[in-house]
Amino acid sequence: MQGKTIAVTGASRGIGAAIALELAQRGFTVACLTRKGAGAEAAGVPAERVIDVQCDVTDEASVKRAFSETVTRAGGLHGLVNNAGIHIDAPSHEMSTDTYEQVMATNATAVFAACREAYPHLVRAGGGVIVNIGSFFDRIGVKRNLAYCASKAAVGAITRCLAVEWAGKGVRVLDVAPGYIETDLNRDTLASGPLRDFLAKRIPGGRTGSTRDVARLVAAIFSEDIPFLTGETIYLDGGQGIAH
Ligand code: NDP
Repeated sequence: MQGKTIAVTGASRGIGAAIALELAQRGFTVACLTRKGAGAEAAGVPAERVIDVQCDVTDEASVKRAFSETVTRAGGLHGLVNNAGIHIDAPSHEMSTDTYEQVMATNATAVFAACREAYPHLVRAGGGVIVNIGSFFDRIGVKRNLAYCASKAAVGAITRCLAVEWAGKGVRVLDVAPGYIETDLNRDTLASGPLRDFLAKRIPGGRTGSTRDVARLVAAIFSEDIPFLTGETIYLDGGQGIAH
């Protein structure tokens, strides 16, 4: 693991910051790709294991620059976590096409573009692993969440297609699809609405997940490095998505 570099998008806070921290604690060098290009240390990631890189995932020039800077500073790239994402909810009959496209651009198109830009660097390193952060909303119908659900279903499809296409080059692609994890993305809704009581009944374990749950699964994928594992969507939702 020493000397292996993993890039994590949206590492400034929430799940991305937890993934960056967990990877660093396991000995990886972590390129924290954030819109500000700074602040990963504030999330607790030790300075000697961090490379702060500015990157807006919806701006292709920025994504290209970010990978090139990462490779120059770290000496190579061995993995990528596409974590950056947004959530906008609205009744479908009132949702503008702009809003739909904004969600798709960040959650789906940017995942494709970052995978594509990382690919030559991973091949040059002799192979690598990409983990895309999807959501268990990819397989269920959720009111007011059409764009988000569609974007995360696209992440599953992108993962499968790239896994098949790139397996011969030693590049594995996985989709880690969390259930409810308390972060800035949903904190207000969880605190103020009836959602918390609903989830207490709907999640078999009776509670939401933590950012560390997701971080440990993602870091384990890199640490264990299982050659036959690719293309899958791995759900991490306390059983909510399969519960009757
Ligand atoms: P947060 O809202 O806490 O964090 C979102 C992160 O994405 C921030 O670091 C933010 O950066 C970054 N980001 C957003 N847009 C861009 C962009 N254009 N370029 C670069 N970075 C960007 O969300 P979570 O940590 O909860 O979510 C992380 C991922 O996990 C998302 O893909 C989300 O869909 C997914 N997920 C989350 C679940 C949950 O319950 N929380 C459940 C299932 C999936 P900045 O600080 O600059 O705003």
